[in-house]
Amino acid sequence: MSEVILKGIPAASGVAFGPAYLLGKEDFIVPARPISENDIPLEIARFEEALIQTRREIIDIQKKIAQEMSSEHAQIFDAHLLVLEDRMLIEEVISRIKKEHLSVEYVFSEELKKYMNVFSNIEDEYLRERVSDINDVGKRILKSLLGKKKSIGLDELTEQLIIVAHDLSPSDTASMHRQNVIAFATDVGSRTSHTAIMAKSLGIPAVVGLEEATFKVKNRDFLIVDGRLGLVIINPDEKTLENYRIEQTKISILKDRFSNIKDLPAQTLDGRKVEIAANLELPEEIPSIISHGAAGIGLYRSEYFYMNRVDLPSEEEHYQAYKFVAEAIHPYSVIIRTLDLGGDKFLSQFEVPKDMHPFLGWRAIRFCLARPDIFKVQLRAILRASVHGKLKLMYPMISGIEELRQANAILNEAREELKREGIPFDDNLDVGVMIEVPSAAMTADLLAKEAAFFSIGTNDLIQYSLAIDRVNEKTAYLYEPAHPGVLRLIKAIIDAGHNQGIWVGMCGEMAGDVNLALLLLGLGLDEFSLPSLVVPQIKQLVRSVTFRQAKDIAYTALGLSTGKEVEEYSKLKLKELAPEINGEER
Ligand code: PEP
Ligand code: MG
Repeated sequence: MSEVILKGIPAASGVAFGPAYLLGKEDFIVPARPISENDIPLEIARFEEALIQTRREIIDIQKKIAQEMSSEHAQIFDAHLLVLEDRMLIEEVISRIKKEHLSVEYVFSEELKKYMNVFSNIEDEYLRERVSDINDVGKRILKSLLGKKKSIGLDELTEQLIIVAHDLSPSDTASMHRQNVIAFATDVGSRTSHTAIMAKSLGIPAVVGLEEATFKVKNRDFLIVDGRLGLVIINPDEKTLENYRIEQTKISILKDRFSNIKDLPAQTLDGRKVEIAANLELPEEIPSIISHGAAGIGLYRSEYFYMNRVDLPSEEEHYQAYKFVAEAIHPYSVIIRTLDLGGDKFLSQFEVPKDMHPFLGWRAIRFCLARPDIFKVQLRAILRASVHGKLKLMYPMISGIEELRQANAILNEAREELKREGIPFDDNLDVGVMIEVPSAAMTADLLAKEAAFFSIGTNDLIQYSLAIDRVNEKTAYLYEPAHPGVLRLIKAIIDAGHNQGIWVGMCGEMAGDVNLALLLLGLGLDEFSLPSLVVPQIKQLVRSVTFRQAKDIAYTALGLSTGKEVEEYSKLKLKELAPEINGEER
């Protein structure tokens, strides 16, 4: 088998290799389950039983077809029955179970693949077409062996696999077995789609927007996922694999290279101090956030709390979750972003009518303002948890001052209720606004008067200002964080915030882009919130330059006319001022 290279969109850096697991087409994916010597007769008996059951099924179908159609049609199934009698296949399975001490479903699925491969390479057309018969019978036998459950869930993986899927939903990623998922490759999506964000948080490589990955990759194909170049290599040859092994070793050395600055401040050579915080999707990420030296959490995406359950979380559950994070991150602060449902994050608990344009529809603060019953449960819990650490609250998708005031009115109701009930909370809780809608960016001067801080959500800000669907792989090439239009909006937001004396952070993916970090520093950004694994790199970068140098970079970049020019210029400055960030010598 010669190697096949698929090109997609690099979504999360790193390199991984291993067998593929095709989500949604996993009929043949069966984990290699070891068995003991004593289990061998039992496994063989299960195999024989599955063969008998499948035979019965096929004969039943054959009878039905003979009655309803014709005996000629029914004869098609004779070929299926012959597969069940193939001594070579049966004996090979039994002998491997005995020799390798592996479960029958695993050995059978492996043998079946070999068997199908032999047939698909046969010259004779008639025989070649028997592959689909073999496939069909094979599936029946596997189904019988696995019981009703044809496939295994992402939470049940027992070995390390690369997930290949058309798309991954937030509930897929929230429920999957973290240690055993080593990379993602999807047909759809872009750099800021949910899959990309999740992969970065988990520190695993991902390539999205591959368009045809689920057609080209077969279950258990050996894959290399190169998240830096956006490549997926199917059945790589030995030389390619060897090169990637070397690459992977280099990456793991680079990963730890800035661990010595973990406890040092993110301060430029001439004394400008900024905060480098981390984004949190799932509570399991807390140890990584702490170990990478993040100064708190700049974005807690609370919607993950609502996933994979049939009911809505109660106030007590919210409270316990926020209290846990507040205490774990103390003495640093945690910014909890209130529920941002919609777009590519949807909830399963209630029927939300399908929007024609989900990103422009009933989303985030719009949903919360329309459902104060749901919103207030979360607000009360955040207020209650605020006495256990340093919490801050921020609203997503605010488009203008009215929405901020409406949200604050509900927050005030929650405060009043708690006061009446004698429940303590931090009365000075900072309430900030995510700036991710162009109208909010353009009215940031007004919002800054009534907000404690801003956090720029570039994932949405870019999609709304450049009119690019952030999850559509077809338009992904137009998604340009360095676009002059985007840079001007960012500058306007930072300036408006500073004019009112409030700090301005950024929690969109752009904040973790090492190529653009100096530019953002120079524009005056006060806080960067990003995937925890990138924290050391961005901190090192800040510590390698003067604020003066960064300001000069920002000034020059703002004078350029295309995103490409800005990007090239930023990369050049990075290479000149801090080559060690990318593992190069000074
Ligand atoms: C953003 O839009 O930049 C952001 C951080 O929020 P999310 O990606 O969750 O929409
Ligand atoms: Mg957003």
